[in-house]
Amino acid sequence: MRKKIIAGNWKMNKTFEEANGLINEVAKGIANKEFFNKEVVLCPPFLYTEMAADFADDYNFSVGVQDISQYPMGAYTGEIAAEMARSVGVQYSIIGHSERRSYFNETDDILSRKVDMALENELTPIFCCGEHLDVRKADKQFKVVGEQLTEGLFYLDKKDITRVVVAYEPVWAIGTGETASPLQAQEMHEFIRNQLAGKYGEDVAAEIPILYGGSVKPSNAHDLFIQPDIDGGLIGGGSLKSQDFLQIIEAMKDE
Ligand code: PEP
Repeated sequence: MRKKIIAGNWKMNKTFEEANGLINEVAKGIANKEFFNKEVVLCPPFLYTEMAADFADDYNFSVGVQDISQYPMGAYTGEIAAEMARSVGVQYSIIGHSERRSYFNETDDILSRKVDMALENELTPIFCCGEHLDVRKADKQFKVVGEQLTEGLFYLDKKDITRVVVAYEPVWAIGTGETASPLQAQEMHEFIRNQLAGKYGEDVAAEIPILYGGSVKPSNAHDLFIQPDIDGGLIGGGSLKSQDFLQIIEAMKDE
């Protein structure tokens, strides 16, 4: 049975004090919950990952980073290597978020190197894909997402693809308050699972969590999360307030 995951992507938000408060509130909010098949992941900015990992030792959540370098440790000023993230207790890395693709020109080639660095260092990549609004308007979303998967992920062998989490994030829904309807999201998640099945087989595809991201909030989380191919969420704005994030966590049924 595949895992359900609720991951909070804080992006470039929170001072040290605020980060400490938010981690504390989320950790305590889920401390008494018995999760069977659900995992909560906090992805704060790099600076706070060690603090989050210290909390995670005592509470039932995991820690992720929002990005990692495509390079191993060495002379790359300003970068953070997967090995370094792993050494402070990080377990996940978001890779290929649309903001990284758009603002930092991360190409499919760079992203596949980041996936490799993550896997070599025992980090689980949360590989993001998703189309821009003009692509959706032209009804080319399946073509574009299919290409993102082919270029960024499908070079992996069967053993490694099972170590990856996919996140479908339509760019037009990120931080805009606009959400894909549950039907639109399910349709794309089913497409992604079919692509995985076509390449790696039904059994493998059935085991890979596919998360939805794009303006998920307490009011729409349930309707998205009950879709058969939606295995949780990658949550931006909705992860910045503990009450909202805790409600979103609650909306993901744990079975
Ligand atoms: C994200 O940044 O991954 C995201 C989904 O953001 P938001 O929830 O704010 O749309």
